[in-house]
Amino acid sequence: MKNRALIWVFLSVLLLGAFGMALYLRRPVEYRSDQFLMDTLVSIKVYGRDTEKLRKAVSEAYAEMHRIADLTDRFPAKGTTAYTESDVCRINEMAGVRPVLVDKEVFAMLEVARNYYDLTEGAFDVTIGPVMRLWGFGGNNPHVPLAGEIKDSLAFVDNTQLVLNRKARTAFLGKVGMNLDLGAIAKGYATEIALQALKRNGIKKALIDAGGNIRVLGTNSGNDFWRVGIKNPLRTGGILAVLSLKDSAVVTSGDYYRYFESGGRRYNHILNPGTGYPATENVSVTVVTKDAGLADILSTAFFVLKPEKVLEIAKKQEGVDVFLVTADKRILYTPGLQGRIELRGEGDFRNDPSR
Ligand code: AMP
Ligand code: MG
Repeated sequence: MKNRALIWVFLSVLLLGAFGMALYLRRPVEYRSDQFLMDTLVSIKVYGRDTEKLRKAVSEAYAEMHRIADLTDRFPAKGTTAYTESDVCRINEMAGVRPVLVDKEVFAMLEVARNYYDLTEGAFDVTIGPVMRLWGFGGNNPHVPLAGEIKDSLAFVDNTQLVLNRKARTAFLGKVGMNLDLGAIAKGYATEIALQALKRNGIKKALIDAGGNIRVLGTNSGNDFWRVGIKNPLRTGGILAVLSLKDSAVVTSGDYYRYFESGGRRYNHILNPGTGYPATENVSVTVVTKDAGLADILSTAFFVLKPEKVLEIAKKQEGVDVFLVTADKRILYTPGLQGRIELRGEGDFRNDPSR
């Protein structure tokens, strides 16, 4: 009798062990790789069964990101291979001279940029280059320019003078002195292209973080929603809200990412093309949508616009949600985020009812 009980105990333990082992083996492995790219730290995490497959997928994703980075780089020195390989440099060099044949994807980016220029009534303008340079953003001597200088360089900011010929696949900046800057769009576009490369390689679960441009694929390794934090723009290291998501992009434009201080004021790197001065309506704008490229464009564009205008435009865009921290310290978000967002530490702000 006693022996029989012992056998049962033994068998149960064995069964439990086997069950635990099976569960352990079913757990996907994580493969992670980080690279410095497009002026920021990029991290790709993928999950699956076969480490070699994961490694290959991530390496292809990075190759795609490098390709987009090289095509859109605006900083290489003239005369270098990097310069001749950058479509943006070639378009800028030929401003006012002649149209330039560009890569399919660069052309697509320029067309999308034109659409959002129209949609935002000029708040989003990739011909912002001359004023960006004047302020010294991207260089090592950022400073507040004279009002007259700003006015003069604004004469060279005009998206309607970026001539796109779809048949010939050429781009042409109409005036000498015009300058293209894809800083608001290239990172998100590259993130999306990288994610598509992962998908082509059979990856079902992934997270790409390109310096705050987040794109998740599927659910997380525990088959649950990915949890993505939105930074508190007033407190370094603080989290203001947490989003629960799958298959989405989350991109934030904030005044704390790139800025300089002068005379006790903060000057951030997103400019209002109407005035030539840094945009001041919002301190942080997060866009949640399927496509990381679109999220990147919209977060920059919305950063420039008045909060009420942002909500009005977002409402009309299918599948676009937005979370705003306004300059007057209000938190606003679109109803689509309700149930997917958890606010934390909003003590610094007024949480306005969402609309
Ligand atoms: P992001 O970090 O995506 O918000 O992009 C900011 C970058 O976009 C800046 O560093 C500039 O290169 C560029 N940029 C600044 N202002 C604008 C604007 N109004 N429209 C389009 N691009 C802009
Ligand atoms: Mg952007």
